[in-house]
Amino acid sequence: MNDDDLNHLRRCIALAGDAAAAGDGAFGSVLVSGSGDVLAEDRNRETSTGDPTAHPEFALARWAAMNLSPEECAAATVYTSGEHCPMCSAAHGWAGIGRIVYVQSAAQLQWWRYGDNPPAGPVAALPIQQVAPLVRVEGPVPELLDEIRALHPRRVAE
Ligand SMILES: [Zn+2]
Repeated sequence: MNDDDLNHLRRCIALAGDAAAAGDGAFGSVLVSGSGDVLAEDRNRETSTGDPTAHPEFALARWAAMNLSPEECAAATVYTSGEHCPMCSAAHGWAGIGRIVYVQSAAQLQWWRYGDNPPAGPVAALPIQQVAPLVRVEGPVPELLDEIRALHPRRVAE
């Protein structure tokens, strides 16, 4: 984890803040080339589009698949505020993107939101490595957790 990694993650948190301000889930992601250039970025748009698959990690995986060569995908990194869900992990794996760096794990988010009483969700909360075993994964990042946690208020399980 170097300063460039942390700066990309801070941009993800800013995008997550933009999403939350727009009424969407507080998630943001940045696609960075092997040489360190920011290629694309996105934020969650589930509520504003009415599409529950409008996750930024999914959008960036598709962007990479359509705009980069397989070699460029393999050298690229997706930085993201929260660990990929299984849908986004699969898209990332199919696109052949080399690396993921996330601030907060899916398990941490579930704990922040629901404590020890999480509701049963429509999609299993599988870790990235279980869905896309070839991806290099780094996270969580302790020094940024408070910033992202502030964007995820506690919820009441139904
Ligand atoms: Zn997702």
